[in-house]
Amino acid sequence: MRKLIIALLSIGVSSQLVAQANDRGEIYQPVPAKVTGVGHGIAPSDAIVLFDGSDLDAWQIADSEEAAAWDIEDGVVTVKKGAGTIKTRQRFGDIQLHVEWRPTDNVQGDGQGRGNSGIFLHSLYEVQILDSWNNPTYINGQAGSIYKQHIPLVNVSKPPGEWQSYDIIFKAPVYAVTGVLESPAYVTLMQNGVLVLNHAEILGATFTLEPEYTIRCEPYSQSREQDCSGKMPISLQDHGQIVSYRNIWVREL
Ligand code: MG
Repeated sequence: MRKLIIALLSIGVSSQLVAQANDRGEIYQPVPAKVTGVGHGIAPSDAIVLFDGSDLDAWQIADSEEAAAWDIEDGVVTVKKGAGTIKTRQRFGDIQLHVEWRPTDNVQGDGQGRGNSGIFLHSLYEVQILDSWNNPTYINGQAGSIYKQHIPLVNVSKPPGEWQSYDIIFKAPVYAVTGVLESPAYVTLMQNGVLVLNHAEILGATFTLEPEYTIRCEPYSQSREQDCSGKMPISLQDHGQIVSYRNIWVREL
C-alpha cells in the first residue's frame, strides 16, 4: 500500500494532524475552511478589519502609542501632516493585506514629494505609496516598489484622485533563537489587480542604504522590551503629504 504523507500541520502545542492520501492519491482531510463575503469593499469573512471607515481603534501613533489622530471623513482616513506615522495595535506575522489608497488630486510637488506615503510591513519594510502617474522619480522609489530594494515590474498607477489598491502577500523573516536569520522576508504585490512584485526578497529594513536583518523588533519604541516573536505591527507612513486610505483588512496566514 502506497501511503503518501502530503503535509504535517501543527495545531496548537500538542495535537498534530497528518494529511494522508488514500491508495488513489486522494486527500479528504483536513477540509479547507470556508471563507465567504468576498467582494468589492467587503473583507473576507476570516479577515481582521483594520479600517472600515468608522474609526482608527485598531491603530496608534507609532512613536508615542497614543491614539492615532488622522482625519476621518466619509469613510475615508487621510494622513494628517505632522500627526505621525501610525501602526496597528495588533502584531502580525505572515499575512495577506488589502489596502486601498488615493493620492490627492490637488497636485503640488513632484517626484518623491507627490502623494508619498507607504505601508511598512513589520514596521520595517516599506511598500512605497506614491503618485506615480506621469511623475518620474528613481524607479526603486516609485509606487509598487520596495523602497530602494525592488523596482515594480510595471507601472500600473492611476491618475491622482483615483482609488488604487494593494494586495500584499508577506512572508515574515524567521530568526533562530540566537537571533541569526534563518529565512528572509518576501513580498508579493498586486497593484490594482496587476502583479508588480513577485516573491521579492527583502534585504532588511528599508530605512537604510545598507539594509540588513537585525533583531530590531520595535523600531518606534526604544523603551519597550524587544519582542522577537516574529509578529510586528503594520505601519502607515506620514510623509507630510495628502494620501487617503479606505478598506484596510488583513488575513493571518
Ligand atoms: Mg513613502
